[in-house]
Amino acid sequence: MSRVFNFSAGPAVIPDAVLGQIRRDIPDWRASGMSVMEISHRSKDFVAVAEQAEQDLRELLAIPDNYSVIFAQGGASLQFAMAPLNLSAEGQVVDYVQTGSWSKKAIGEASKFCDVNVVADSADRNFTYVPEESCWQRNDAAAYLHYCANETIAGVEFPFIPDSGDTPLVCDMSSTILSRPIDVSRFGVIYAGAQKNIGPAGITVVIVRRDLLGNARPGTPSLLDYAVYDKSDSMSNTPPVFAWYVAGLVFAHLKSRGGLDAVAAINERKAKKLYAAIDATGFYSNPVETGCRSWMNVPFVLRDASLDARFLKEAAAAGLFNLKGHRSVGGMRASIYNAMPEDGVDALIQFMQEFERTRG
Ligand SMILES: *Cc1c(COP(=O)(O)O)cnc(C)c1O
Repeated sequence: MSRVFNFSAGPAVIPDAVLGQIRRDIPDWRASGMSVMEISHRSKDFVAVAEQAEQDLRELLAIPDNYSVIFAQGGASLQFAMAPLNLSAEGQVVDYVQTGSWSKKAIGEASKFCDVNVVADSADRNFTYVPEESCWQRNDAAAYLHYCANETIAGVEFPFIPDSGDTPLVCDMSSTILSRPIDVSRFGVIYAGAQKNIGPAGITVVIVRRDLLGNARPGTPSLLDYAVYDKSDSMSNTPPVFAWYVAGLVFAHLKSRGGLDAVAAINERKAKKLYAAIDATGFYSNPVETGCRSWMNVPFVLRDASLDARFLKEAAAAGLFNLKGHRSVGGMRASIYNAMPEDGVDALIQFMQEFERTRG
């Protein structure tokens, strides 16, 4: 069977070039007669892969030297707990912006360990906007300020980096990391599960400013302590070697595409044309405030929801898969991560126009 256009929100599409490389590597990696999954993570060959992946990520994001890059497991969801355990003392106040399902989950988890102050909440309009920063009710004593840069479910992306002053800024970047350049120096901690823009599920990138290491609460399990990862180069126990190797291939692939400036230009073009197609008639609509529409996740509804099932069925017949919206939002969602070719977005737009013409 040939490849389809896969609009899954995550685990999501991986570049064809990377899949081809994996296929060639699997049985006999680097003429070793073994695959990368079958050798010691402490072997010279694997350590080289791990180091190269980190170096390429540092180059792509221009990560300053005073930041540690950690490869962990447990997904972004485990970071919801690791951030408070590493960055706050028991009972301390922490500031969180609530802009959607993922930041809400982060707040729920942090509430087990901290006194969470929700500085702003966009639930009043169904998580379709980012509250004005000047209205945030921050607590001066907060250990950090947390936000989710791109809410994957409602398709809301922050058009700015919050100004947290001297308070460390902590960001869930799972569904937007590597989609455009960012100024890492503005952050205390950035974390991202891999299965959107990085690679297979099972590995999580955490970028931590070094002065924030070594403050985990007493009793924190070793594998939840950022400093343990930093000291061991993320190999205090067996890391997810295959996912790490694939992430490295994706980083190298992004470099070969010209880095994040080039990738961002394509992402912006893809998103703009899809939103323009949605806005062009009243047949489709996207409820998100125009200034904070996500480049990566584009939810939309059909005016007549009774056509949803037919839309999905005919889309699949046209080679366009996984367009069903999240159950909490309904309708459709096209996730157009880095690895979604522009041709895929063009094919989706063409299908949408044709569907409207024949069913509208
Ligand atoms: C997917 C996602 C998560 C959850 O990631 P897991 O790896 O499943 O824990 C958290 N935050 C955001 C923004 C996401 O897109």
